[in-house]
Amino acid sequence: MSGAGISTESGIPDFRGPNGLWTRNPGSERMSSLQAYRDDPAVRRQSWQARLAHPVWDAEPNAAHRAVVELEKAGRLLAILTQNIDGLHQKAGSSPALVLELHGSMFDTVCLTCGDRRPMRAALDRVAAGEGDPECLVCGGILKSATISFGQALDVDVLTRARDAAIGCDLMLVAGSSLAVQPAAGLVGLAARAGAAVVICNGSETPYDSLAAIVLRDPLGTVLPALVRES
Ligand code: NAD
Repeated sequence: MSGAGISTESGIPDFRGPNGLWTRNPGSERMSSLQAYRDDPAVRRQSWQARLAHPVWDAEPNAAHRAVVELEKAGRLLAILTQNIDGLHQKAGSSPALVLELHGSMFDTVCLTCGDRRPMRAALDRVAAGEGDPECLVCGGILKSATISFGQALDVDVLTRARDAAIGCDLMLVAGSSLAVQPAAGLVGLAARAGAAVVICNGSETPYDSLAAIVLRDPLGTVLPALVRES
């Protein structure tokens, strides 16, 4: 299972790490609330500017993402349960079919009224051309990135497949997550209850550390390649 911490070495800040977006600016957490996004046009305009300037569009995978690709090549990867929305596992070469994006993807937009889904780039071009809050071209509804905000349910099919993988694996490797967000974090407990060994690689403490057979605090770009090499 990966979280925002696997992508910090690619230049994408996490939320709760030492240099995290919410650690530095707690007010920005409001931009991740579905209700605030629906109700407040100012939140939407701010969100569109943040998307336009987001480091994800130019980010490249790092050594930690590439180590996960090596696990797959070695036939040792059942699934990648990622909380990330940055597409970097796929860009590194992980099979898209193995990547379960629990919190969706930044690369598409979805209309909150009619569900119309399209590539994000088209909406960002409209923002760059001066639209502060581009509306759905089909029904005029509110457009949002196809990501899961607080107050929004996860995709049932993705969550079911993630639960199956958690129950079916014999080792759950956590890479770069504070494990503070449910139901994603609960998949670690599920795996442990089903008999999997848990290894947590994260720079700071998580609520699941006591379940883990091994906890490693080193930077992921170093620790994951070393683990894969030596396993
Ligand atoms: P989080 O910000 O809550 O936690 C990230 C953890 O990673 C922190 O505990 C931090 O100490 C650790 N970390 C950061 N860099 C590290 C490194 N190089 N080596 C080792 N550990 C490192 O992130 P989360 O648990 O994924 O949950 C936050 C939510 O934020 C997720 O739902 C996700 O969708 C979203 N998010 C995603 C991205 C992304 O897609 N890259 C970026 C920011 C937030």
